Amino acid sequence: MLPPSPLQQIKHPDAVRAGINLWCKRDDLYAWYPGSPLQGNKVRKLWPLLLRSDLPGRTVVSFGGAYSNHVAALAAAGHQFGFATRFYLRGEAVRNPTLDAVLRNGGNLHFISRTDYRLKHDHQFQRELGIVEEEFVIPEGGTSPESLPYTGEVFRETVNQFGAVPPDFFCLSAGTGGTAAGIIGAAADTPCTVEVFPALRGSWMRDEILRHLEGFSGTPAFTVIDGYHFGGYGRFSPHWKIRTPIGATAKRADIGEPGLPELEPVYTAKLFSGVLDRIRTGAYPRGSTVVVLHTGGIY
Ligand SMILES: *Cc1c(COP(=O)(O)O)cnc(C)c1O
Repeated sequence: MLPPSPLQQIKHPDAVRAGINLWCKRDDLYAWYPGSPLQGNKVRKLWPLLLRSDLPGRTVVSFGGAYSNHVAALAAAGHQFGFATRFYLRGEAVRNPTLDAVLRNGGNLHFISRTDYRLKHDHQFQRELGIVEEEFVIPEGGTSPESLPYTGEVFRETVNQFGAVPPDFFCLSAGTGGTAAGIIGAAADTPCTVEVFPALRGSWMRDEILRHLEGFSGTPAFTVIDGYHFGGYGRFSPHWKIRTPIGATAKRADIGEPGLPELEPVYTAKLFSGVLDRIRTGAYPRGSTVVVLHTGGIY
């Protein structure tokens, strides 16, 4: 296991003015080594796999889009832990810095049509793809029922870092909602409200999270904050400055706000824009402690 990621106070003038204690839980620094694609919430989701003792020499198979941080993280884990990786990616064959990193780590890439991709979690279809019983299959995005306790750990770490006091609000970005589900599970029956900011367009996130939480017995307290997807997955605000630093695997977004750590545009820039907007519109009572989870992104 890795040590807890840092909890950093964010000094933003609008937060100070609104009387909000704003903090960032720095899971972008929760990495195998600085700069490793095995980082952020993707490491937390992969713990059930990485803690197995029978990995060396095995093959692990998974699914994702061409810019998937999960695919990059799993390939890096394979390189680090001595297992082979194979990925079925959605859509036309492409090359980009994320996939270059996957290939450098020995990942094997197969592109499948969007129609076929919808069948990815179907057992019969997986056999037709050539996936055999001895191989471990990790679902898209790395979200599985086994991963929820490990994604929830980031909430428990935060509570410990505040001296056993839960924050009033814990805010995070969501794609599959798997990270959110684990955190909501961990925060249930505490006074904390979890705010989930989907990075995708659509209104299915709440049901999706509840589906991940099936069989969970506590009382979850969470709100889905729609309206900060900025046009949908992979679409960005025209007001942000987007750049790809030399040698980096992914884009960076400067959203024009002071005091923030580096953000990527797909998830965390949307989240921070949303939280700061809500601070300015008075969504959080004066005196509240608000934690924003930096889920990472490839550096
Ligand atoms: C994958 C990812 C997410 C989304 O996590 P889900 O568990 O799929 O909701 C959020 N932020 C970053 C940086 C990611 O890489």
